[in-house]
This record gives sequence, structure tokens and C-alpha cells, in this order.
Amino acid sequence: QCLMDTRPLAAQILDTLQGHPRFHQLSAKFAVQLDGGEALAMLEHHHDLWLSALERDGQGLLAFGLAGCPVDEPLAAVAQDQGHELLVAVLELFLDLARPEQTRMRHLLMDMSREDFLAQLEPRLSRPLLNIGGWRRQASDAGLHIGTYPQAAPGQVYVGAGTPLGRLDPAMLKGAAQLAREYGDASLRLTPWQSLLLPSIAAADAPAATAALEQLGLLCSPQQALAHLIACTGSSGCGKALADTKSDALQLAGLLQRHGRQLDVHLSACPRSCAAAHVAPATLLAVAPGRYDLYLRDATQPGFGTLHARNLSIEAAEALLDARPRSNLDA
Ligand code: SF4
Repeated sequence: QCLMDTRPLAAQILDTLQGHPRFHQLSAKFAVQLDGGEALAMLEHHHDLWLSALERDGQGLLAFGLAGCPVDEPLAAVAQDQGHELLVAVLELFLDLARPEQTRMRHLLMDMSREDFLAQLEPRLSRPLLNIGGWRRQASDAGLHIGTYPQAAPGQVYVGAGTPLGRLDPAMLKGAAQLAREYGDASLRLTPWQSLLLPSIAAADAPAATAALEQLGLLCSPQQALAHLIACTGSSGCGKALADTKSDALQLAGLLQRHGRQLDVHLSACPRSCAAAHVAPATLLAVAPGRYDLYLRDATQPGFGTLHARNLSIEAAEALLDARPRSNLDA
């Protein structure tokens, strides 16, 4: 579903951000997203400026928005060859308007409307902004980062492989690189879901590539319970940890697998939640070695959601999770 190869424009944007001294004033957190329209895309993280590819009457455009994400209503669009010009104009206007304490676009937009920002932006562009009224970016499909899926080119697929609890050791990486050379186009991509993609593999070679990735210890099937668990570093590597989340997660995965459940569970060894910027459907928050409070996501509650049970062992947590009816907990 890719509508444009974002890499040349991304490289141009990066060059500008690095090479244009004025842009060094931007906060290190100031973030730009460039989305090519792919089915597999991280669309939920907020960015100060986002651009998203679309087609109108055979022309490639970039919709854009401020302080949000591509599934929001866009403000307007420009031709794809104007993407770089738009970025420069937005960043320069932001720096012209923002007070020193307004480090992010959302801070500036508390003082002025998006419409006012657009009105000041348009004269800085070489061509008028395009109205794409009603267009919305489709949400991405969950789960496409693990398994085999078709690419736009006929007969070509990519294979997605999860790294167990986010750990990719040198042997796995070397092995995956070797497979990318052998079966693909010698490239590997990293995803925000702690997985690797091997693109441009002939569909007929996908089973062999998948088997070899599994041999390396990577997770190539969404049926594997471990593919749905995330855990912070835990007590094996972090002084703040109250539990060994990585090894507890392995135990939990074994129990879930035995019961045929694939649940999205986050194990965190303290409330800092380093492993997940988002709230998982279920969170096990450590209270002592091997003991966890269970929270279930609830949009009306702050933090990890509703506290469901306290001080559980991994076996007890698994039994509680397994007893729940199939729902949005299931991956
Ligand atoms: S969530 Fe807490 S325990 Fe886990 S890595 Fe972060 S700081 Fe350490």
C-alpha cells in the first residue's frame, strides 16, 4: 500500500535538520513524521509535524498536520515535490513565533489556532496549499510486523520477525543479515514494535527464510505468546527494578502458550514504564521479586488503567488473565 518511497525525502529532511544551524534551536524532542501510506505504520505517536502520502487525480500529494498524528484530520496538502519546502517553512515559522518556553508545536498552538498558523505559512510557500477536504489516513493494520505479507511488487513478500522481549543478540543480527543477503535485497528494517523486517523476498522463499529466522530464535508467528509480551530491562540490568521482568515474562509466555492464549501484556519492574510509551491492554507492575499488581487498560483511568488484582505471582496472574473472556486483551 506504499504510495511513495519516503527514503529520499527523509534523507533530505535529515540533511536540512543537521545542516541548517537555525534548526539546532529546536528541542531534541521536536519530532517530524513522514508516512508513505504503508499498511504497516506507526500512526499513534504524536509528532510536531506529520506528513502522509496520498493520491488525488493521479497526483502524489502529502497531507500534513501539526501536533498530532496522521490519523487526525489533516490541515491541507502539498505536492510531494514540495514536501521539503513545506517542512522548512513550518519549522522556520515555528521558530519565528514560539517563545523560548514553547519548545513543542502543541505549546505554540495553545496561543494561536491552526488556521492562523496556516494563514502565516501559506505566503512562505511557492505554491498555494491544496484542500483535500474529507481525506483521512486509514488506520494501520495491527500485527503486520510479524509473519509474511505481500509487497506491492507481484510475487514479493516481506518477512517480519519479532525479537524475544526486545533482545537482538549479535548471532541473531548476523544471521538475519545473512538471510537478507541470501533471500532478500540485503536490507533489514527495524520496526517500532521490536521486530525486524526482511523485505523483497520471493514468495516461494518465504517459508525457508522464516524457518531460518526461527532457528535463530526470532519469533515469526503471531501465534507465539512471547511475540505479544514486552518487558523492561528489570533487575538484571536496572537498579530501580523490583523484579526480574525479562525472566518472569518468559515464564508467563510459557504458561500462556500452553493455554493457547496470545495476550498483549506489559511487565514493568517499576512505574517508569521504560518498555512502553503506550498503555498496554494488560500491565503487570512489579511490587517485589516475582510479584505483580495487575492493571487492565481503561481509557477513563490515568496510568496503566484499572487496578484489577494485587501482589500476584506469575502463575496467579496468568490464571487471572486466562480466565478472562476473549476480548480486546487478545492480540
Ligand atoms: S521501568 Fe523502571 S525498572 Fe524497568 S527499566 Fe525502567 S526504570 Fe528500570
